[in-house]
Amino acid sequence: MFEIKNIAGKLHIKQNPTQFIRESVNGERTVLRSPIEEMERKKHYFTSWLQARNIDIPLVDYIVFAYQNELTIENTSSHRLVFSYEIPNRLRNLEMRSEILNANQIKRLANELLNTHRHYDPFPLIEKYALSIKDLATGVACPNCEQLTMLWRTRSWHCRACGHIDRHAHHATLAEWYCIGGAQLTNQQFRHFTNIHSRHIAKRMLANPFTEMSGKKRNAIYQLSPRLLNTENLYL
Ligand SMILES: [Zn+2]
Repeated sequence: MFEIKNIAGKLHIKQNPTQFIRESVNGERTVLRSPIEEMERKKHYFTSWLQARNIDIPLVDYIVFAYQNELTIENTSSHRLVFSYEIPNRLRNLEMRSEILNANQIKRLANELLNTHRHYDPFPLIEKYALSIKDLATGVACPNCEQLTMLWRTRSWHCRACGHIDRHAHHATLAEWYCIGGAQLTNQQFRHFTNIHSRHIAKRMLANPFTEMSGKKRNAIYQLSPRLLNTENLYL
C-alpha cells in the first residue's frame, strides 16, 4: 500500500508522538496529520475488507514522498518513508517466499477492488455543510485577481478591480455551483449567483457545452455536466 504525499519544503519527522512538521521557505512551521497514522487507519479497513472475503495476504506499506524534500527524521522507523524514485527497487527487493494467491485469484481480487471502489464525491457542499445559498457571496470570479468583481458588458466579462477581460468566466461560476449547489440549476439561480439581471443574457450564457436544458420557458432546468470540474474550466 502506498500513501503518496505531495508535500513541498523541508520536513521534520519526530517520534512519540509521531509528528510531521513542514517548514516553508520563509521558515514557517506547520504540523501535519501523520501519514503513518493515516496509513494505519487505511490498513485497518483494508484488512477487514480482505477478511470479509477470506483473503489473507501480508500487507506492505510505504509513505511515499512525491517531491524530493529535505527530510530530517528523528529515531522513527524510517524504512517505511521513501521517495517515489526508490519504489521500483523496494518492490524488486521484496522477499517472495511462497505463492499465496495464484494468477487467477489475483485477477479476481483486482476486479473486486475495482468494483467496490467508490469515487469520493463530497458534492453538493450545501448539504455536506448545511449551508444556504443566500448566505454565500455572489458574483463571477476574475481568473486573474480571484475577486468576485467581474461585470458583464455586451460580449465579455470585465474585471472592475484589475481590468482583466474574459468571455467565459461564468463557466468557472457554473463549476462552483456544481460543487456547492449540485448538478442542476435554474435561470433565476444562475442570475442570483452571477449577479446578472437580464433573464435573456443568462439564457444565452446557459446555452454552453456544459449544460443541458430540460423543461420549457420559466420551468426550464439546466443539468450541469461533471466536465465542468476539469481543471481547465476552473481557476481555483
Ligand atoms: Zn481581476
